[in-house]
Amino acid sequence: MRFADLGRDPYEHYDDEPHLPEGYIHEDQALEYVFDNERDAIDESVRADAADRWLRGGKDWLDLLNIVSRHDKEQLREAIRKGVTGSGSSSSEDIVEPQSFGVASDAARLLESIGSPHAKHCTPSDDLGWANTLIKLTRAFREILFLISEPGDSWMAHHHLGGPIVEINSALARGRPAELKWRTPDSKTREFHREVDPEVTPLHSVIAEWMCEFLVSHSANLGLAVCTECGTIFVRGRRDNVYCSKACQNRVAYKRKKIFESGVLVEEKIDASAPSALIPGVWVNHPRLGLGRIEAARFTDRKLWVKFKDHRFAQNIPTDSSAEEYLEQVSKDAKAKAVEWEEIVDPSSIEVRVRFLQLARSFRSWELFPNDKKADSVPTFYRVVDPEILADLL
Ligand SMILES: [Zn+2]
Repeated sequence: MRFADLGRDPYEHYDDEPHLPEGYIHEDQALEYVFDNERDAIDESVRADAADRWLRGGKDWLDLLNIVSRHDKEQLREAIRKGVTGSGSSSSEDIVEPQSFGVASDAARLLESIGSPHAKHCTPSDDLGWANTLIKLTRAFREILFLISEPGDSWMAHHHLGGPIVEINSALARGRPAELKWRTPDSKTREFHREVDPEVTPLHSVIAEWMCEFLVSHSANLGLAVCTECGTIFVRGRRDNVYCSKACQNRVAYKRKKIFESGVLVEEKIDASAPSALIPGVWVNHPRLGLGRIEAARFTDRKLWVKFKDHRFAQNIPTDSSAEEYLEQVSKDAKAKAVEWEEIVDPSSIEVRVRFLQLARSFRSWELFPNDKKADSVPTFYRVVDPEILADLL
């Protein structure tokens, strides 16, 4: 027996052929070069592909969230209208039954059409709890998407991320992790996969899992945003895209113009050192968030200064009591009557909760009166002259 190479592969030395154009680089060499020198570019394109696969694989979930989000948008708009005209006391966070029912019918139709195993548990006829949890989860995701698209210096985002993350975690804690299964597509292969049991794991928990996959692995490579006009979650080309379409952008511009031209809002200059005029009912125009209405306002640092006959002191007033209530309590404790007293409020401790169409947001002093007067971060404030007209124009 003898080992021998009996001939050359005719293409083996293709590179040596004399007719190759000048500067020709063999594929292997090119790949080698790229792997050695352009590692980051390769990693980036691999990650972009993975993000793209996640998006395609989750198309049904995105459609489902958009059904919920668009319904929710109408509900929030309605709550704001009611708040403006004083025709309803319901908070914008409440979920009312017609809304649950609307979400449930449309979501159930989608689940059925995609053959989802959850379709039989999620119907508009039974308990609508599943639709409500889906609404809350969608709001949380929307809020996170909004926060992560905020400009870079986002310790502000830090401050606001807590709530929505708690919501997502509570959804994750429901049900059981997907089970491990295996199948044999043909006689030679065996594949492992995981399967959710819809009997024990609710729909919103599965979707929360999908959201986490996006936030953990793909959010740096895929920009998802929420249209501030219609509530649709869309893939945004640029970081500052806030509308899903030209149509939404034009509609907002048109409505905004109408509102300001109608004169129903009158600008109020607020003094940062005495912002007592920021009370519920005042409107805010924020460069990125649009028009919103103050739902609640409070100061977190209030002190009571009291003078009794023989001594005086200042003490923090607890969050849930008024200066008068607290005075009554300290007077009782001191078994004396105050000769003089005063409530001293730190203006920079103001916290204002504003309801915009797409989300409710709490603002602290540094956000209401930013030192950095960049055009995209300074809010302006308005008093409503005619609530009925404003409600019509929203
Ligand atoms: Zn839109």
